[in-house]
Amino acid sequence: MQNNPSVVLRGTKDIVFENRPVPHLKDPHYVKIAIKETGICGSDFAYYATGACGSFKMEKPMVLGHESSGVITEVGSAVKTLKVGDRVACEPGVPSRYSYEYKSGHYNLCPYMAFAATPPYDGTLCRYYVLPEDFCVKLPDTVSFEEGALVEPLSVAVHANRRAEVHCGDRLLVMGAGPVGLFIAGVGRAFGAMKVIIVDRVQPRLEFAVKNGFATDYYNSDNKSTEDLAKYINQKWDGESPTVAIDATGAPVCIRTALQVICKGGRYVQVGNGKTTLDKFPIARISENEINVRGSFRYGVNDYETAVGLIATKKINVKPLITHRFSFEHAAEAYEFFTQHKAIKIIISGPSSLKSKL
Ligand SMILES: [Zn+2]
Repeated sequence: MQNNPSVVLRGTKDIVFENRPVPHLKDPHYVKIAIKETGICGSDFAYYATGACGSFKMEKPMVLGHESSGVITEVGSAVKTLKVGDRVACEPGVPSRYSYEYKSGHYNLCPYMAFAATPPYDGTLCRYYVLPEDFCVKLPDTVSFEEGALVEPLSVAVHANRRAEVHCGDRLLVMGAGPVGLFIAGVGRAFGAMKVIIVDRVQPRLEFAVKNGFATDYYNSDNKSTEDLAKYINQKWDGESPTVAIDATGAPVCIRTALQVICKGGRYVQVGNGKTTLDKFPIARISENEINVRGSFRYGVNDYETAVGLIATKKINVKPLITHRFSFEHAAEAYEFFTQHKAIKIIISGPSSLKSKL
């Protein structure tokens, strides 16, 4: 009999391994995937550290993980695009096919979304996971399983750049140099932004961003006030303001600064989530200068495919972000290591690549 070892979060900082039932194909359009590599994301960590992420709270033990790649081990009778043995990146949120949001082309906003490792749904850190065939994107032979696991955060960056309509000739300001901010900068360059300045207060991250070609320049925000930060960031642009700003922090000072320095008629996109409301929002700057403000949430139509394509065509190199690797058996240590903020991206291997005793 097959088993399905799974990394289960029972409560705050309480990870156990459980042998969960092997999931069956719920529908003839579903496929079963043997999970190979999984990245740890800020949201997984929020559940680990606090039992909640934004407005979502854990009410029962939950399998962690939503950034995964794997191999197809079984296909439903109606599956046309995949076969056993195909290597895929797993898109972890499945919407209702009957919602207004789905029908209107914004399936990421579907209120009935079943998203991996978002209560009450279990995640992908297990041996077998099932998805509809159209939520698995094939990986070319040149794209590794580790790169496949990074397709999830890269898709967040693709979606943000699409929401911002970044195109050739843009000047892009990115607030935040965590994995998503780094990817937003890198995708911005791939989409044609000529100058990309990234802002954060962690100096090694900023140097990493420029050294690896994600940004053309950086500025260390170093706990400055909005006024000071806006002044110094303006100097970085040599009199030309950014045409696009994307915030990947949710930090009030970053949001206010970005809205302050962006050019008239510019595009501002909010990706980062911090507090639910914000004081001193520069509303007059927006109205008087026709600044376009948009939100960006997860990813939607063709974002996963585009992310795989950007990796396959070497328009972005995601590998340098992987700073630490742990085996499936050491998943609890991986989460504990995350608390030290030493890693950019941690990848957990397996369990399918291991001769696991679990
Ligand atoms: Zn993620």
